[in-house]
Amino acid sequence: MIEIENVRKSFGPLEVLKGIDLTVEKGEVLTVIGGSGSGKSTLLTCINGLEPIDTGRILVDGTHVHAKSTDINKLRCKIGIVFQQFNAFPHLTVLENVTLAPRKVKKMGRAEAEEIAIKQLNHVGLGEKRDVYPSRLSGGQQQRMAIARALAMSPDYMLFDEVTSALDPQLVGEVLDTLKMLADDGMTMILVTHEMSFARDVSDRVAFFHKGVMAEIGPPEQIFGDPQNEETRQFLSNVR
Ligand code: ATP
Ligand code: MG
Repeated sequence: MIEIENVRKSFGPLEVLKGIDLTVEKGEVLTVIGGSGSGKSTLLTCINGLEPIDTGRILVDGTHVHAKSTDINKLRCKIGIVFQQFNAFPHLTVLENVTLAPRKVKKMGRAEAEEIAIKQLNHVGLGEKRDVYPSRLSGGQQQRMAIARALAMSPDYMLFDEVTSALDPQLVGEVLDTLKMLADDGMTMILVTHEMSFARDVSDRVAFFHKGVMAEIGPPEQIFGDPQNEETRQFLSNVR
């Protein structure tokens, strides 16, 4: 379970998260939507401890993400994160990209790491591509490799930040299918997306962020069908 309690976060004079309260249960798929600059990416980077917070607290399975005593590297093994831009290591093959963190961070032996990596690559439909370099992959394949790389750490939680935004339209579907498969497998995930029909389809709950405030949260039927908040209504009427 991820518990976010009254989290505030500023960059200099700009308050980006203005007291966020949110709990994500095990197995839940939460989608975060909202305008540019509303704090969506910042929330994700705070959850896995990439960014410090000013006040409040974030607990992952009861562990304080930002406490000095927390072993943040150990905690991060539990929380996979995939970003919009592909960040593969160009000089490593697909298989080497996926085995890198299990080997370096988890100190796993090559054979075990490769076994897990191959399983995850097959899972995302990239089994055939294990020995090629990332530059030979399409954008959608690179993003699926990034997902396999995160999954190779056996995370309990996955955070996705607009993973389809940089893709050509015809490649978006294959990545969304991969996310849907993970959701169906019961992975707990928070995903930031502008793909509203996907969000409607896959989410247990949808949170709408507006200027650093979580203005509304509810089941997709509410957020997309009968939004209670005026800002939510306006946002959705503009993106449709
Ligand atoms: P988008 O939909 O455009 O990705 P977002 O909701 O993800 O937007 P954030 O990236 O969380 O928004 O940014 C929230 C605000 O914080 C923005 O005004 C942004 O310029 C600012 N910001 C984000 N990261 C930093 C940083 N490292 N230093 C200074 N300001 C930052
Ligand atoms: Mg963002």
